[in-house]
Amino acid sequence: MRKKILAGNWKMNKSMSDVSGYFDLFAEGLGDLFQDQAEIWFALPSLLLQEGVRVASNRFRIGSQNVHFASNGAFTGENSVEMVQECGASFTLIGHSERRTLFHEDDLFIANKVKSCQQKGFAVMLCVGESLSEREQGLTEVVLAKQLGTVFAITKKWEGISIAYEPVWAIGTGVTATPVQAQKAHAFIRTFIAHTSDREVAEDVPILYGGSVKAENIGELISEKDIDGGLVGGASLDPNGFAAVYQKMIGAN
Ligand code: PEP
Repeated sequence: MRKKILAGNWKMNKSMSDVSGYFDLFAEGLGDLFQDQAEIWFALPSLLLQEGVRVASNRFRIGSQNVHFASNGAFTGENSVEMVQECGASFTLIGHSERRTLFHEDDLFIANKVKSCQQKGFAVMLCVGESLSEREQGLTEVVLAKQLGTVFAITKKWEGISIAYEPVWAIGTGVTATPVQAQKAHAFIRTFIAHTSDREVAEDVPILYGGSVKAENIGELISEKDIDGGLVGGASLDPNGFAAVYQKMIGAN
C-alpha cells in the first residue's frame, strides 16, 4: 500500500535560529503520533538544510525546494543534488509553481532536473498544476498531461517520484480545490502514470494535494481515493497549526 505523506514547504521563510524551536514545538504538538501513520517531510530553504537535518534527527524527512540538474559548473546561485545531499537532504521539490512562474522554469528544464535526481538516487516531489485561466478554459487535463508527459519523455520511468497536484489558483490564495475537483485531477494523474508505465507503478506513486491546505480541509481531501497527503505552504509555518493538520489528516481528532 502506498504511503501517506504530509509535506511542509517553508518557501523563503524562517532563519537558522528558528529551526530548533520550530521542531520542538511541532514534535510536542504531535504528541505520540510520530510517523507511524504518515511520513512527515519538510522542504526547507537550502541554507537551513543542515540545521534542519540535525534537529529533525530522523524523525522527519528534510529536503530542498529546488536543485539544478548539473553536478557542478558555472550556474551562479544554484545548488546541485550532490550539494543538498551533502547537507543531509533526502528529497527535493521540483517544478513548484513559483519556480515555473516567477523563475520561468519550463517543462523541459524541470524534466532534466527530475532525470538528474533519478540518476543520483535522489527522491523528487514533482509539482504540477494548472492556472486559473487554464482551468476556466477546461484545459486542466491538457496541462497536466503536458507537464507529466514532458517529464516522462525524458525520464522514461516514475521510480523515485511522488507528485504534488497544486492548482496554481489555490496556492497561497485561501481558495482550496474541492475534494471532487482534486480527486478528479489525482485520478487523471494516476491514470496517466498507468498509461505511460503500468497500473502497479501508478498504484505506488504517492499523489499529494497542495493549495491552501489547512486543518479545516485536510480531512475531507484525504478521504478521497487518490489523495495520499498534502503539500502545505502557509499553514506549515506555524508548528502547532501544522501539527493540527497532521492530526486531522490521520483522523486523530
Ligand atoms: C505550496 O507552497 O506548495 C502551497 C501549497 O502553499 P499554500 O499551502 O500556502 O497554498
